Formats: sequence, structure tokens, C-alpha cells
Amino acid sequence: MEQTTAFALIVAAVIGMFGLLFIIRRQRHEVEDAGRESPFGVSTEGMKVCPKCGRGNLWTDASCIYCGTHLKG
Ligand SMILES: [Zn+2]
Repeated sequence: MEQTTAFALIVAAVIGMFGLLFIIRRQRHEVEDAGRESPFGVSTEGMKVCPKCGRGNLWTDASCIYCGTHLKG
């Protein structure tokens, strides 16, 4: 019975550590994202996002100015 309790504690500790690692990694990722600015502009609001390369194009553009993919709409 003691072994089972010890095992359960270890499992709980491992799960807790992984949860903590996940949170730390996510926070680091958010910091990296905030510090890295795209030269093409961060916001794609009010723009057509290319389905192929994911970059923002103006609503007036019929095709992606970066890769030439035809844009819907
Ligand atoms: Zn594109």
C-alpha cells in the first residue's frame, strides 16, 4: 500500500512539473513574440491574409503581393 501511495505522489509531482514547464514555456514564447516585430506589419486587421504564405494583403489586391497566390473575395 505504501508503494502505491509513493507512486501516486511521484506521478502527481511529475504532472505538476510538466504543468509548470508548460506555463513557463508559454510565457517565454509570449515574450519572444512581443519582442519580435515583423517588417511587414504586425496587424493584419482590415487585410486579406494569404492562404498560402499567411501575409496580409490589401483588400484591393486580387493576388498576394508576396507569393502571387490568388486571393478570395
Ligand atoms: Zn502569399
